[in-house]
Amino acid sequence: MFGHWMRGENLLSLWLLLFLAAGLVAGVARGTFKARKIQPRGFKWRTFRNEAIFAAINLVVSALILGTLKTKLSQWGMIRFNHETAAWWTILLEYALYFVLFDTWFYWLHRAMHIEPMYRWIHKLHHRSTAPNMLTTLSVSPFESFINGGFVPLFLAAFTVHDATMALIGPTNIIMGLYVHSGYEFLPRWWNRSWATKWFISATFHDQHHKYFIGNFGGYTTVWDRLCGTMRPKFESDFDKIKARGRAIRGTAATIAGAETI
Ligand SMILES: [Zn+2]
Ligand SMILES: [Zn+2]
Repeated sequence: MFGHWMRGENLLSLWLLLFLAAGLVAGVARGTFKARKIQPRGFKWRTFRNEAIFAAINLVVSALILGTLKTKLSQWGMIRFNHETAAWWTILLEYALYFVLFDTWFYWLHRAMHIEPMYRWIHKLHHRSTAPNMLTTLSVSPFESFINGGFVPLFLAAFTVHDATMALIGPTNIIMGLYVHSGYEFLPRWWNRSWATKWFISATFHDQHHKYFIGNFGGYTTVWDRLCGTMRPKFESDFDKIKARGRAIRGTAATIAGAETI
C-alpha cells in the first residue's frame, strides 16, 4: 500500500523521507521510543532483510511505470496543473477533496485485495511483516503500487488542481505511510475518544491490520471501517493498553532517574 507517492521527481518528498528516517534512527538508538513501541518483540531481521529487497524492486519498477504513465497523460493533455497562485482555502479544499476520494478508493481496493486470489497474487507480499516497520511501507508488489498509485493520474485528469496542492499531497502521503508502519504510537491516549480526532487512523490501527490480517482496512480515515463494521472490535481497548504500558515504562524510568539523583 501507499505505493502511489513514489514519484521519482518529487525531490522535496525524498528530503522529507531522509530527514524523518535519520530522526527516527537517532531516536531509536537513544531508546526514547521504547515506551511507544506497539509490538515490543515483533521485529524480525529476516523479514526486514526481505522487505529491503522487495522495497528496492518495487521502487524501481513503480517509479518506471507510474512515471511513464504520468508523462504520457501529460503529453496527451489529460493532466494539467493550475500554476496560478490561489487562496489558502482553495488549496485546502483541493487537498481535502483528494483525501476524501483517495481514502474511499484505498479502502475498497484494499478490501478487495484481501479476497483470494487477489490476496495471494498482489497483496500478500505487503503482509510479510506481522509487526510492520518503516520499510514495510515500500515493501509492496508493483501491481499494488499501480493500483493505489493509479489514483493520482485519474484524480489529476478529473480535476485541474493547483501545483501547490500537489506539493502538499506528496509529503503527506509519505509521512502517513511511514507513520502507520513505524511500529510506534505517538498519538495521545485521548485520540480515539475525541470526536474531532477519532476519524483519523493511527499507527496502532494499521499495525493491528498487519498483526491480525482482518479488519482496519482504511488508509487515512476510520470512516469506511466504522460505516461497514470492519473496524477491529478490540482496536480501541488495545490502543488504551499500549498507551498505559508506555506510561508505566516512562514512570519506571522517571523513578530510576529520581533514585539515581538522590
Ligand atoms: Zn500496511
Ligand atoms: Zn492489507
